[in-house]
Amino acid sequence: MRCPFCNEQDTKVIDSRLVADGDQVRRRRECQACEERFTTFESAELLMPRLVKSDGTREPFDDQKLRAGIQRALEKRPVSVEAVEASLHRIQANLRATGEREVKSLLVGELVMEELRKLDQVAYVRFASVYRQFQDLDEFRREIERISQQAKEEALDSDTLSDSTNVSVSEMASMALKGEPAK
Ligand SMILES: [Zn+2]
Repeated sequence: MRCPFCNEQDTKVIDSRLVADGDQVRRRRECQACEERFTTFESAELLMPRLVKSDGTREPFDDQKLRAGIQRALEKRPVSVEAVEASLHRIQANLRATGEREVKSLLVGELVMEELRKLDQVAYVRFASVYRQFQDLDEFRREIERISQQAKEEALDSDTLSDSTNVSVSEMASMALKGEPAK
């Protein structure tokens, strides 16, 4: 494991513990060159199915790519690192739970959308609008309306409004249609 600070190859594990229901290992490491400490999360990726893309090509599951995609959707949104990690974990657990050696990459996208819907509605719309490539604007509008309705119902159930439910439908739509996070 390379040191992320000085790129030195020689790092030492100083603490190691199981996390996320025992299928991830959290390691504290120390660089032997610059003495910086950092944490790694390692999981048994051998158990992850390969992904079959829509053109039929196969690729190994890449958790960095998955994390990057989710973080892009969540840019500047009030969601904790812990919540993101928990979502990533659930997505991977779901993929493993299929018991398949190969799954359609489409399934990963659906799982991501399911998680983002729970995490943050704005991020969900950002991701969904790019990922699903909504066939027409009517379809997109219906999806926005559905989310908006859901947000209203949830708001009725609780006294505290979260940030995501305060964002208006038109804001979400214009953000998503631009395909980039609001500044
Ligand atoms: Zn170092």
